[in-house]
Amino acid sequence: MNANPTIRRIAIFGSTGSIGTQALEVIAANSDKFSVEILTAHSNHELLCEQALKFNPNMVVIGDEKKYHDVKEALSSTDIKVFAGDKALEEVAGIDCYDLMLAAIVGYAGLRPTLQAIGIGKPVALANKETLVIAGDIVMRRAVENRVPVIPVDSEHSAIFQCLIGEIRNRIEKVILTASGGPFLGRKPNYLVNVKREHALQHPNWNMGAKITIDSATLMNKGLEMIEAKWLFNLRPEQIQVLVHPQSIIHSMVQFEDGSIKAQMGLPDMKLPIQYALSFPKRIPNKFPRYDFKKVNTLTFEEPDIRTFRNLVLATEALNKGGNLPSVMNAANEIAVYAFLRNRINFLDMTDVVEKTMQKIPFIERPTLEEYFDSDGEARNFAADLIQL
Ligand code: NDP
Ligand code: MG
Repeated sequence: MNANPTIRRIAIFGSTGSIGTQALEVIAANSDKFSVEILTAHSNHELLCEQALKFNPNMVVIGDEKKYHDVKEALSSTDIKVFAGDKALEEVAGIDCYDLMLAAIVGYAGLRPTLQAIGIGKPVALANKETLVIAGDIVMRRAVENRVPVIPVDSEHSAIFQCLIGEIRNRIEKVILTASGGPFLGRKPNYLVNVKREHALQHPNWNMGAKITIDSATLMNKGLEMIEAKWLFNLRPEQIQVLVHPQSIIHSMVQFEDGSIKAQMGLPDMKLPIQYALSFPKRIPNKFPRYDFKKVNTLTFEEPDIRTFRNLVLATEALNKGGNLPSVMNAANEIAVYAFLRNRINFLDMTDVVEKTMQKIPFIERPTLEEYFDSDGEARNFAADLIQL
């Protein structure tokens, strides 16, 4: 039971990341509305402990078991419970001590804790798009069965979600997912082949974790988001359009059956969709900088260059075909991105690894959850062999 129902108790899975730290800024500015119940990190135990000492959660989880004693010692003067390991991450998600999970772990590792939260009926503010890419049908079905709201944090999906408020009986003609185009907008393959990680990590508009920043540079991020949108809003593939909008002011749009288009706008600042997801259905005041039409007065739009950024073609294939193909694509992409970040492969190789893995792993039309996990493992092994990791 929540002793104080006016305070929403938040469990942040992935609290040391870009989304997690920004969520804690939002919570710190609204301590009359939110408390922190659970914080988790993978290996950054120093930051996890710093956060725990500041926010005094009920429990913390450090994924890397080797760091357990460091965390335990740093928090020895408190009554914060300390757990370690992947299994603990899942188990803690299943403890009924919070009101909302912020799913902000990156990649496949976010899936199981989120399923646990849904399993015990906890609303999820979902940043971890990979969860829906891997097993969107199962995740959303379980959410419906347990009457659990899944509130998007991803800025595009938050925009669509906001545009749909008050439109429950109105059909969507299509959604227009905007894309900044990333740091290599307008570049061609002969340039991209020589791009180094430092260059790819410089995003023009958003400051994010390393994996999503690379995904933004390859446009795989937009591919993942197309699949995320399909599951969140129950869309057919042909209802999802990607449009490059380099200023990142319009975060996405919904076109209804009468041709009317709604857009959600604002400066590119993840704190806004994070705050909205935490406080939904309420909006709460803040001091974030406001968008000024006089300052950024030209908004431009263009088609994505799918001949150069072939990940969008691969993701469209995964979106259309469904089954285990999106999960295979996601797994290969995770392997490829981390190999690129470690300077093991070049920028364009990432797409080749994904494509070859998608061709190789047997297609399953209606996978069970176990089959999704197996496909993920097979795809990872195949991709790692290709790269000779
Ligand atoms: P970061 O890399 O900045 O943070 C990831 C978080 O997950 C960290 O707390 C990290 O812990 C933890 N983590 C990493 N690997 C594991 C693992 N194997 N097991 C458990 N925990 C793990 O990522 P972001 O915050 O950028 O992104 C998080 C998610 O949100 C991603 O799915 C991303 O696509 C999505 N998203 C992010 C946006 C952004 O602006 N950053 C925008 C929209 C969506 P540690 O620090 O210890 O490594
Ligand atoms: Mg996004």
